[in-house]
Amino acid sequence: MELINIKNLSMNYSGVSVLKNVSFTIESGDYLVIIGGNGSGKTTLMKGILGLKNVEEGFIEYTGIKKVQIGYLPQTTEISKGFPASVYEVVISGMLSNIGNRTFYNSDDKRLAKESMDRLGIGHLAKKSFRELSGGQQQRVLLARALCGDRELLFLDEPVTGLDPEITEEFYSIIKALNDSGKTIVHISHDVDRVLNDANKVMKLKNEIEFYGSKEDWMNRNFKEN
Ligand code: ADP
Repeated sequence: MELINIKNLSMNYSGVSVLKNVSFTIESGDYLVIIGGNGSGKTTLMKGILGLKNVEEGFIEYTGIKKVQIGYLPQTTEISKGFPASVYEVVISGMLSNIGNRTFYNSDDKRLAKESMDRLGIGHLAKKSFRELSGGQQQRVLLARALCGDRELLFLDEPVTGLDPEITEEFYSIIKALNDSGKTIVHISHDVDRVLNDANKVMKLKNEIEFYGSKEDWMNRNFKEN
């Protein structure tokens, strides 16, 4: 089932074009890896789909999902890792986009936060201070935050940056398990060779789409080029 249809999308910052004529669809169950050099527009594309940045041309149709069902794990540089809050507080803050005009979290929000912590095996850390955790644990907490609520689609922006190889592997397996359990994944990564083990589609961006297709087509294409 199609979740999102993106057609002829163009985006810019202060008149400087960052993305041109981007068209693709996100289907339920996909694991799409997005690659491309620094400044190629990967993060901007995610922000456009999340509604965090204006789109200049083209359109984004949410055909099989609501925007609030998209969870987002931003790049590490955008998150204050020294934030003085407990693990539980960080996770439940993932509900902020859903609570609308309510002033307080209700019992459903609290239940969903607990479920999200349990799913990622961090329930026992609930009362710990976020800033005292290891990098790998912090990243799990932020993934639990992104998943908190009724999220069907998960956007991950270079989620393993700065993690050591073992913790990185563990994080990749968590993402794969989420995909196997039915979540749709869009993952910006520098490590296409590794992420391709788990992904089914690839997009290569350089302000325009240089490649978009199945993992098999991507591998055949590389094979022909080499
Ligand atoms: P990527 O994620 O592929 O590294 P980005 O989408 O972050 O690329 O950035 C694409 C281009 O947009 C870059 O040239 C970057 O400098 C520019 N850019 C990103 N964010 C901003 C911003 N907030 N203001 C102005 N320019 C920006």
